[in-house]
Amino acid sequence: MKPALALKTSVQYLKGVGPRMADRLDKLGIETVEDLINYYPFRYQNYALISPLNKLQEGEIVTVRGVIENIDNQYLRGAKTIQKAVLTDESGEIEVSWFNQPFLTQALKKGTRVALSGKVKNYRGKISLASPEYEIIENQAVSFQKTIHTGRLVPVYPETRGISSKYLRKIIASLLPRIKEKIPEILPVKTIIKYQLLARKEALAKIHFPENKLAAAKARERLAFEEMFFYQLKILKKKQARQKEKKAFVWKIKKSELNKKVKEFIDKLPFKLTGCQKRAVKEILTDMKKPQPMNRLFQGDVGSGKTIVAAIAALASLANGYSVAFMVPTEILAFQHYQTLKKFFTPLKIPVELITGSKKIISRKKVKIILGTHALLFKKKPFSNLGLIIIDEQHRFGVAQRKKLLKQISSGFLPHRLTMTATPIPRTIALTLYGDLEISILDKMPPGRKPVSTFVIPPSKRKKCYHWLKKEVKKKKIQAFIICPLIEPSETLTTVKAAKEEFSYLKKKVFSNLKLALLHGRLPGKKKNQLLEKMQKRKIDILVATPVVEVGLDLPWATVMIIEEADRFGLAQLHQLRGRVGRREEKSYCFLFAQKAGPKAIKRLKALTEIHQGLKLAELDLQWRGPGESYGLKQHGFPKFKIADIGDLDLILKTRQAAAQNCAKIRE
Ligand code: ADP
Ligand code: MG
Repeated sequence: MKPALALKTSVQYLKGVGPRMADRLDKLGIETVEDLINYYPFRYQNYALISPLNKLQEGEIVTVRGVIENIDNQYLRGAKTIQKAVLTDESGEIEVSWFNQPFLTQALKKGTRVALSGKVKNYRGKISLASPEYEIIENQAVSFQKTIHTGRLVPVYPETRGISSKYLRKIIASLLPRIKEKIPEILPVKTIIKYQLLARKEALAKIHFPENKLAAAKARERLAFEEMFFYQLKILKKKQARQKEKKAFVWKIKKSELNKKVKEFIDKLPFKLTGCQKRAVKEILTDMKKPQPMNRLFQGDVGSGKTIVAAIAALASLANGYSVAFMVPTEILAFQHYQTLKKFFTPLKIPVELITGSKKIISRKKVKIILGTHALLFKKKPFSNLGLIIIDEQHRFGVAQRKKLLKQISSGFLPHRLTMTATPIPRTIALTLYGDLEISILDKMPPGRKPVSTFVIPPSKRKKCYHWLKKEVKKKKIQAFIICPLIEPSETLTTVKAAKEEFSYLKKKVFSNLKLALLHGRLPGKKKNQLLEKMQKRKIDILVATPVVEVGLDLPWATVMIIEEADRFGLAQLHQLRGRVGRREEKSYCFLFAQKAGPKAIKRLKALTEIHQGLKLAELDLQWRGPGESYGLKQHGFPKFKIADIGDLDLILKTRQAAAQNCAKIRE
């Protein structure tokens, strides 16, 4: 005996499916009845306008209903055929034609009642329909609302080989009335009422067969709400769990004492802190005084001055007698930060340790800053006495690596955490992706920065551009970067090989009398540091590099950035690369080479010539490339939403609020 139909029933037992189609559906991720009703259309074909035959207007997309008067098959040249039919209703008749569907002469025999949907053509005053969608109306009494392929908003599904939208419509339409009452509600009733959402079973029926656009929108809204709600709930629970974690270190010094230290520290800087830097310092210090460990994301465009704010956070931990671990993604950056931090902390008699794959500078003192690359994760002795962890360019580290760092701790309390990123994150993404973190943002640059003049260079101007650069280097002693194409997302041998080739070509053929050097991720750490030092001492004119330089480099004399095959990068990423120049009063330039880019890519790149705010560019990336590509979301453990749009701020704010209201009540 057949088991009763349930949500968990395998689709192969449905009428019209069977093992072969079940296999194909499986490729779309559809195994059960529940999967099938949760397979949403991505758009609707609007065939809702129903018209008598004598009222048809050229260009309209309509549905007509009538009787096939006659139909025949005509042969064209080649193996092509055309099916010509005449349709009549009470008001008149029209001609209808299809191509290469000879079976239609059997399916739509003379006398068949049909509904046809398509675009109205007018050829020399003769109205016709070409290749319309058809649906046989078996029972004359059936109203139009009961049709599924015509006469309504018709769902269009993501298809795969052997599974057409028409097929999906058919099986879903016959399934829905049988299963609808078995679809459980999963949102709290209060939430449904408060946000005026459709019941789940209504939403699932209407997402497939809405009576109009409004109904489709309401269905979509409800299902998106549900999806985002459960995600936000998960995040909130994570946050709650964190608040119950081990405590942070006990704050020992007086508030006034720390304020004095911070003030002295700031007074010694060669510049004044910007307003947003001050605000970030305040947010961080307030957090650090709380008994729960801080977990804060610190976002600021390249060059916005995050390092100094991090240094002040470090100072607060150090002043309390607790060490600081500062993890950065590359050796070069470690080395650069080492120099910066030493300048700040040597006068305060606080040692800075450096631990990278190739270099170790260790101090015996108990309270110190431990700066390092991934090498910190493999330290033999665990950290003791750690008050604060700072992670720079956090997007360069995976979730697992960040967790591993926390495991390296042996003290009885948890350190505060400050993760920094120059990747501009639109607010919607921040609220979802980092919904469990506090966020500080540097939204203004230190004064005096000039925007980097940016140009998209067509292939014909490449030579001229090189020539200009040659003269500029000679005349002004400036330095330049040439970034090699991004061949693969990570630094592989292929990428390195391409960089080497480009380097030797440029060195021999283009800039033969300038000093060129090559930097790529596979160079030994020592070599990288040497290169950086040479750049700083201006012993190198042009640094040819793979995109590794994206991360944090601060070289004041570099004023020209050339990026090969710029169209392979996201806008925010290009903006980061561009941020390597323009750090001095001297005017800076960025040239985007896009040898093979089409007009669409060029248009996208042009945005960089006008927009100089990372956040705006990130939002454009989100529009153009979608969230997955723009943020490497998978790597962050970010779910792929089926229906919720993570660019929809309203949805995100509402579901966060709703999740917060339900958080305490819902148990897992
Ligand atoms: P990022 O946020 O990209 O890490 P950095 O911390 O490297 O930026 O800062 C970039 C440059 O700006 C550094 O040379 C730093 O000394 C300088 N800087 C930071 N804050 C200010 C400020 N308030 N005024 C002027 N220059 C500043
Ligand atoms: Mg930085």
